[in-house]
Amino acid sequence: MNTLAPDSPAILAESLTKTYGSGNTEVVALRDVTLRVLRGEVVALLGPSGAGKSTLLTAIGLINPPTSGRIHIGGHLVLDGPRPAVDLRAFRRKHLGFVFQRANLIPFLSALENVQVALEINDVPPRAARKRARELLDYLGVGDRARHLPDALSGGQQQRVAVARALANEPGLILADEPTAALDSHRGRQVMELFAKVARERHAAVLVVTHDHRALDVFDRTVEMEDGRLRDSASSTGPCDEPKGPPQRLDAGAGLGSP
Ligand code: ADP
Ligand code: MG
Repeated sequence: MNTLAPDSPAILAESLTKTYGSGNTEVVALRDVTLRVLRGEVVALLGPSGAGKSTLLTAIGLINPPTSGRIHIGGHLVLDGPRPAVDLRAFRRKHLGFVFQRANLIPFLSALENVQVALEINDVPPRAARKRARELLDYLGVGDRARHLPDALSGGQQQRVAVARALANEPGLILADEPTAALDSHRGRQVMELFAKVARERHAAVLVVTHDHRALDVFDRTVEMEDGRLRDSASSTGPCDEPKGPPQRLDAGAGLGSP
C-alpha cells in the first residue's frame, strides 16, 4: 500500500449499516458497525453464522457496498454509503487481496498462470510476473505444482495458490473469508501464520473471518459479531499501542521479493 498514507489506519469503517431487500423480505445485516484496523495488524472476525461477517468483509472489500456509513482504506475515503469515492475496481486491484472459502482459481490456467495473471492485470510485464508468481508459489510450498491445472491439486494446494494470488501485488490490505475451512488444521494454521508473517513483514493489515479457534493465537486481536453488531465495541476501535513486533514463531522462509 505504498501509495496510501502510511500513518492512517488500513481500515476505518464508520457506522456501517447494510440492509438487504425491502418490505417483508428486508434483512438488516449490519447495524452501526465501526471498525478500525491498523497497518501490520492481524485481526480475526468471529461470530455465528448469519451474524454479518461476510457482509462486513465484502463491504470493506468494495464488493458489496454498505447502505450507509463510510469506509476509508489507508486514509482514503473509498465509499460514502453506497457511493464510490474512488474507482473501486482499480483501487481493489491495486490495494486489496482477497481469499475466499473456496480457491476460485481459473480452471483452464495452471497454478503459475493463475498467480501470473493477477500481476499482469496490474501491468507487471510477463517475464517479471512469471518470476514473481514462481517465487510466491515456492514461498507457499506449492512451487512443485506450478504447472498443474487447479483440478490436479488438492483443496489445500488450491487454497495456497489462491493465497499466492492474493499476495501477488503486495496489497496493503488482505481480506479472507473462512480461508481455512477446506484445510486440515495443520494447513489451516500455516495459512493463518502466513497472513501474520505478511502483515508484519510487509506492514499490511489482515482481516480474517474464521471459525477455527485453534489458530486464534496467531492474531493480534479478535472482534466478534452478533446479529449485525460488533459485540465488544471497546475492541472495535483498535488498540492504542502499535501492533506487535515481528513474530517469534513463524518460520523464516523465503522473503516476498518485489516483482
Ligand atoms: P455471516 O457471514 O456472518 O454468516 P452474512 O453476512 O452472510 O453473515 O449474512 C448476514 C445476514 O444477511 C444473514 O441474515 C443473511 O441471511 C443475510 N444476507 C446475506 N447476503 C444476503 C443477500 N444477498 N440477500 C439477502 N440477505 C442476505
Ligand atoms: Mg459468511
